[in-house]
Order: sequence, then structure tokens, then C-alpha cells
Amino acid sequence: MRMLEVLIVGGGVMGAATAYALARRGRRVLLLEQFALGHARGSSHGLSRLFRYAYPQAIYTQLAVAARQAWAALEADACQRLLINTGALDIAQTDLPYLKACAAQLAAAGVPFEQLSADELRSRFPALAVTDQTIGLYQPDAGILPASRCVATLIEQARRYGAVVATGVRVDRLLPDGTGVRVDAAGATYRAQRVVITAGSYTPVLLRQLGLSFPLLITREQSAFFLPHHRVLSKIGYLPVVRDHGHGDGESLLVCYPDMGEGVKAELFGTGVVVRDPYVLPPLPDPVESERIARRLEATLPGFAARLLRAETCRMTHTPTGDFLIDHHPEYRQILLAVPCSGHGFKFAPLIGEILADLAMQGTTKYDITTFRIDRLRMSPALT
Ligand SMILES: Cc1cc2nc3c(=O)[nH]c(=O)nc-3n(C[C@H](O)[C@H](O)[C@H](O)COP(=O)(O)OP(=O)(O)OC[C@H]3O[C@@H](n4cnc5c(N)ncnc54)[C@H](O)[C@@H]3O)c2cc1C
Repeated sequence: MRMLEVLIVGGGVMGAATAYALARRGRRVLLLEQFALGHARGSSHGLSRLFRYAYPQAIYTQLAVAARQAWAALEADACQRLLINTGALDIAQTDLPYLKACAAQLAAAGVPFEQLSADELRSRFPALAVTDQTIGLYQPDAGILPASRCVATLIEQARRYGAVVATGVRVDRLLPDGTGVRVDAAGATYRAQRVVITAGSYTPVLLRQLGLSFPLLITREQSAFFLPHHRVLSKIGYLPVVRDHGHGDGESLLVCYPDMGEGVKAELFGTGVVVRDPYVLPPLPDPVESERIARRLEATLPGFAARLLRAETCRMTHTPTGDFLIDHHPEYRQILLAVPCSGHGFKFAPLIGEILADLAMQGTTKYDITTFRIDRLRMSPALT
């Protein structure tokens, strides 16, 4: 049995980015994915994810700046454009502390942004329903990542640098063994010096098997695509990605993407259905949820939910604080755990790939990942 340097469990965007980072460093890597690449039973498929810099915490804005460079490096390496610059606009019906904190972090990081009054919003974005109370925070350098194409590009590049990517191979068991790990997968056995678990919504299954209990909540979220009345005003160049926080008093966040050829995509955050067993086939999209999304979209962008074209589902894996989990297994340092989701991880993927490659090969990284440590997350007030 050949000893691998690193075995990666899971071929979503995080596993693909880690394979790319390691293979580019000349490491011998095997990535095992249980389904086909680009499948729809995880978190990384679909047409679009928002790349934004605005966060109320310094750490995420700083990492977004570094992640932008990582995407640019991948684009140069792959000779492909991935990030489409559309701008992103957060709006609210009140002076939300969240938006003030985001503005402060953008200013501190030197990221361009504008704070817009109701009148400025009306003249800049005529499709928006604006009241005298509406305020806006605009990031001109934000944009859209074509999700499935990003994953395919990362896998393609990882393979180009020598990574082996096998699909239809489910990792059944991880057995820490001395300083390495024995991996049983689909009837075969592998040995690796390091294992990186980037298993998304399936992570709890592997953690249980490794005797580690950590509270992860899995939800099934829904996106709906609409044909708008306003064919021009819904296009990139006229419409940025819009995040409508409403009154901010527990109202779900509506996120709406400009039409990239498949209609206007809209989704509500915080309305997902809890998934108890990731291996039970997800139910089809719920027409009631599509209707709820349509109502919110109409309120924000009148005429945009004229006709429902289709809906799709996607899984979110939430930590108790909404922060990422990126750390060594507390007992077996040769195993790394990465759950960078909570509905906002995609934008950081190539950077997280670099961080996981650092941790796998050096045991440490130059990036500050204190917030993502397992003990820190376990001690969070959200759990007490
Ligand atoms: C509706 C929605 C909207 C989002 N919007 C944004 C956004 O706008 N911006 C943003 O930055 N992020 C966003 N996100 C979050 C982002 O999509 C996730 O952070 C990211 O896709 C997580 O990727 P992953 O690789 O960790 O997980 P996944 O994509 O789920 O990949 C895990 C993979 O591991 C495989 N696997 C699991 N167990 C095994 C096993 N035992 N053996 C072999 N393979 C295994 C699975 O089959 C799967 O392919 C959104 C997420 C959702 C659901």
C-alpha cells in the first residue's frame, strides 16, 4: 500500500481548492468524492455565489481581501475569468448597526464603498422599491462567482498539477494509526500522512465515527429563478447583487442576483429546513417557499418575480456562531477539519485551500484562524 502525503475527503469547493493548493506545491494528493463532481446534494453547485467584502467583523473583511488575490491567482493560472464584477448593494429600512459595522470594517481595510441615501438609491438603481427610510451600502468591487464553474476549474487545475481525483468513492472509515491515517473507502484501503475532511453537510457522520462531538446544524435552503418584466434593468451593469435586510428585526435576508441568462435568482436566508440525515435524498424544492421568495422579491424589486422559472436546493452547514470551523482534530493532529460554510464560505475557497495546505504540511499558517478553532467555537456564548 502506497503512503499518500494527503488524502482529502470531499470534492466540493473546499476540497477542490485544497487539492489545488497542495498539488501546486508538488504534494502527492488524492481527493475522494462520494458522488459525481458538481452534484446537487452538497453546498457548492449552481450558477452563482456572492463575493463581497462587507462583514461586521474585521477578520472576514481582511480574509476577503486576501481571497480576492487568491481568486485572481487562480484565474491567471487557469487562463479563465471567474469573478464577474457586478457590485453588491446592502439595503435596509433602518439605520442597522450591522451595516454601520460593515462600513467601519470596509473603511479600516481600505475597500471602496459608498453609503447611499434614499434619493441616491432612487437615481442610481431605478428598479429598487425605495422608501424615505431606505439606506444603502454599495461595494463596487463585489461580484459573482459562477459556483459550479469555479469548482470544475479548481479540480481541472489540481489534476494538471498531478492531484488524483476519484469520484463515486465514499470514505467509510478513518482510522488514526500512529502518525498517519488508514482510510477505508469503497472496499479499498489507503494510508495517508494527513487527512483533510472537507465533507460539508456529511461532516457529522465522519466526526461521529472519529468520536468527536461538535454541534453542526444542517439546513436545506432554496433558491428560485424568475423571469422579470424588466429585461434590461435586471441585467448585470444595471442591477448589482442586492441584499435586502428589511427592518432587520428578525426579518429574513433576501439576496437577489442579476439575470445571467437563467433569470433573476433570489433566496431568503434563515428559512431553511433542518436536515437530520445527509444521506436521505433531499425533497424537491417547495412551491410554498418559492412563493415566499417571490413575495419578498416583488417587495424589493417590483416586477422582478413576474414568472417563476425554476427552483433548486442547496445545503448549509452551520456552526453555532456562524463562524467557520478550521482546525486540527483535537486528539489526532494528522486529521484536519474544515467546515467553512454557514452560508458564506464560497468566496474564501482558494484562500481556505491555501490555509489547509499550510496546516497539512507545516502544522501552522500565517493567516489568523483563531476565530475558527474548535475550542473557541465550543466555548462560544451561543452554546452556553
Ligand atoms: C443557498 C446557499 C447560498 C450561499 N451563498 C453564498 C454566497 O453568496 N457567498 C458565499 O461565499 N458562500 C455562499 N454559500 C456557502 C458556500 O456555498 C459554502 O460555504 C461552500 O459551498 C461549502 O463547500 P464545501 O466544500 O465545504 O461543502 P460541499 O460543497 O458540500 O462539499 C462537500 C463534499 O464532500 C463530499 N463528501 C462528504 N462525505 C464524504 C465521504 N464520506 N466520502 C467522500 N466524499 C464525501 C460530498 O459529497 C460533497 O461533494 C451559500 C450556500 C448555500 C447553501
